[in-house]
Amino acid sequence: KNGSLLGILNKTETSMGARMLRLFLSEPLIDKGAIEARLDGVDEFVRNPVALKQIKNSLKNVRDMERLTGRIASGGLLPRQAKAILESLNALPEISALIKDFSSSIICSCKSSFTGFDEVTSLLSSAISDDPPPSFKDGNYIKAGFNAELDEFRLAKADGTKWVAKLEATEKELTGIKNLKIGFNNNFGFYIEVLNSQKDLVPYRYVRKQTTMSAERYITDELKQIEEKVLNADENAAKLEFKIFSEIRAKLLEYVHKFQQLARSLAIIDVLSTFATLSIANSYVRPDINENGSYEIIDGRHPVVERFTKEGLFNPNDTILNNENNIMLITGPNMAGKSTYMRQVAIITLMAHIGCFVPAKSANISITDRIFTRIGASDDLAFGQSTFMVEMTESAVILKEATEKSLVILDEVGRGTSTFDGLSIAYAIIDYLSKNVNAKTLFATHYHELISLEGTHKGVVNYHVCVKEFAGEVIFLHKIIKGGTDKSFGIEVASLAGLPKEVISSAKHYLTEVENREFNAENLSSVQSNDNLLSLNKSAVLNALERVDVNQLSPMKALELVTSLQNKLKGDNNEN
Ligand code: ATP
Repeated sequence: KNGSLLGILNKTETSMGARMLRLFLSEPLIDKGAIEARLDGVDEFVRNPVALKQIKNSLKNVRDMERLTGRIASGGLLPRQAKAILESLNALPEISALIKDFSSSIICSCKSSFTGFDEVTSLLSSAISDDPPPSFKDGNYIKAGFNAELDEFRLAKADGTKWVAKLEATEKELTGIKNLKIGFNNNFGFYIEVLNSQKDLVPYRYVRKQTTMSAERYITDELKQIEEKVLNADENAAKLEFKIFSEIRAKLLEYVHKFQQLARSLAIIDVLSTFATLSIANSYVRPDINENGSYEIIDGRHPVVERFTKEGLFNPNDTILNNENNIMLITGPNMAGKSTYMRQVAIITLMAHIGCFVPAKSANISITDRIFTRIGASDDLAFGQSTFMVEMTESAVILKEATEKSLVILDEVGRGTSTFDGLSIAYAIIDYLSKNVNAKTLFATHYHELISLEGTHKGVVNYHVCVKEFAGEVIFLHKIIKGGTDKSFGIEVASLAGLPKEVISSAKHYLTEVENREFNAENLSSVQSNDNLLSLNKSAVLNALERVDVNQLSPMKALELVTSLQNKLKGDNNEN
């Protein structure tokens, strides 16, 4: 969770809310009306900050009604869980009162599932003891006063000795037998013992039970009743208590459906109020939702990176994508913020589709059928997939499945192979996306040759991330602006990362050499084998043509080369 969008949003009060949030995130909506219904709910909470705070507090008293309802349905509800249901039901009136005047459809439908629990609430509050034990065997989970018979059993257990002492005194009085006493043993139970010397005084109602050396032992009806009550009190109480609880469970079973709806409503209120709280705390705004394929995000921010960046130091950026300008080709130095920017667009789009406000000054987001990403270097060696293979497999899925309603994030595609293979693949992917897919695409690359695709390829617009060079150092401005760039400052960034000085100066030296060489034999043959690359860089192609070995060109290839170059020159002249 840490460092993820979930980590930022996961501030719900209940576990039902936490599960609902995960569901929202894993099943974003593509229905404009449904998204707006959620946004209306968040909006209402944002406009009522006092109620919002109190609702968050009241939700703390709500227990996991979803799980508890599951226990009722499976027949496994324990007394403590019945108490938890009662606590949740007790929290409802307060929450209902707080959202009484809310009018958004989503909150109103939640409100309607809060009623109809009076009977079950009063049953539970009169029946379930205030602090029920964790298991049935400890007893005392049904409140005193709920059932008269149960009260008597409990009394018998506690008062048994008092009753016996009282009976002993009464019998002494009635019979005049001064040394009469009531005793107990495990074999014979309770008995009235009269010494042999006084047994003539024993009344007829005494029934002889046992004879000992010095005395006779008797039982009476009254003593028998006491014996039954006292000896069986525990067992009877346990049986009756369980019977009462089973009846309560049966009653709760009638409420399963209502409890499920209640749990869902509480979870939705929990998530929407959490979104509202985050929006207020982090200055998120309500996004407008459109269905015309355009994205206009003004001063968008990455919700996770901004959280980990010192306050006020995260630089916001705009995003404009529409059906005419649908491919942002983003170049710029290492560490400039390209990946952050692209992910922020994807995250803002996702947040809008789950009904959450977004980190921006304003945002107008098109309904997006899927968000595709090809980011980072990962492999799946156990399943025979190298890093590059994973990269290409993911790219293949994107090209096959993306539609014009998709958002595609491609971060440095092609970097996992040789420069010319990678460049060719990157070129071909943009070419394909431009001609066949028309998805809204953000494509970050260090292949600066690709910036010449703006103008030749429909929808491609160049952007770059600004940096300043000052006293030989690179200062990252993290600002995305229109236009391409042709420097990566890779060596400067490597130096910042702490590569040894000798390595850095050797890299700089080698870079100068490579730049002076421009096209070597290898890339020349690559140009010859892939005439598409001709459109990439005018001066490079001219250079290549200058050095081309005519003897190695087939007449057909030569013709294609000339035609293509001519077209390119015409295109450039027209532009000028
Ligand atoms: P590379 O080409 O080396 O992969 P990159 O251009 O993709 O780099 P990021 O990884 O996006 O750069 O950003 C590098 C770091 O810069 C981030 O970890 C973040 O701390 C910081 N950063 C990125 N964007 C911003 C921003 N808009 N405001 C402030 N800091 C930012």
